[in-house]
Amino acid sequence: TTPDDCPADVEQLGRSTWTLLHTMAAQYPPKAPPTTQSVMKQFISTFSQLYPCWVCADDFRSWMVQPGNEPKVGGRDELGNWMCLAHNVVNVKLGKKEFDCSLWKQRWKDGWDDGRCD
Ligand code: FAD
Repeated sequence: TTPDDCPADVEQLGRSTWTLLHTMAAQYPPKAPPTTQSVMKQFISTFSQLYPCWVCADDFRSWMVQPGNEPKVGGRDELGNWMCLAHNVVNVKLGKKEFDCSLWKQRWKDGWDDGRCD
């Protein structure tokens, strides 16, 4: 792995970005007001055009525009599950293990039930 004080490679960039995206979902309102929903939609759209791994961004956008795959921004659980699903699409593409989305909240919001994050 590259030292911490070097430019981010695709892997490092990915890990940091997923941390930001899942944490944004974890802190999103349980039920988002319409303005917040539209800001989040805009953010995801802008993000997907500017993400500085161009093949990643292209594939992500092509997936997102397919019917049924549009960002779900109504509230925290919806957004968190959508983000988990989107991340799993990338996991599958890269041959990584799929993440169990029922554990999403423990991983990104509340910490694990065994208390190791307390
Ligand atoms: P990551 O996949 O970065 O995951 C970090 C942590 O998130 C994991 O340790 C796990 O605890 C948790 N996690 C894993 N899956 C999920 C999930 N489904 N839901 C919630 N939490 C989860 N890389 C490429 O080489 N090619 C690409 O085309 C590509 N596209 C990308 C598109 C986007 C939008 C982003 C943000 C990243 C993309 N990446 C791509 C990077 C790639 O997804 C990984 O971030 C990178 O390979 C490092 O992987 P990792 O195994 O360290 O864990």
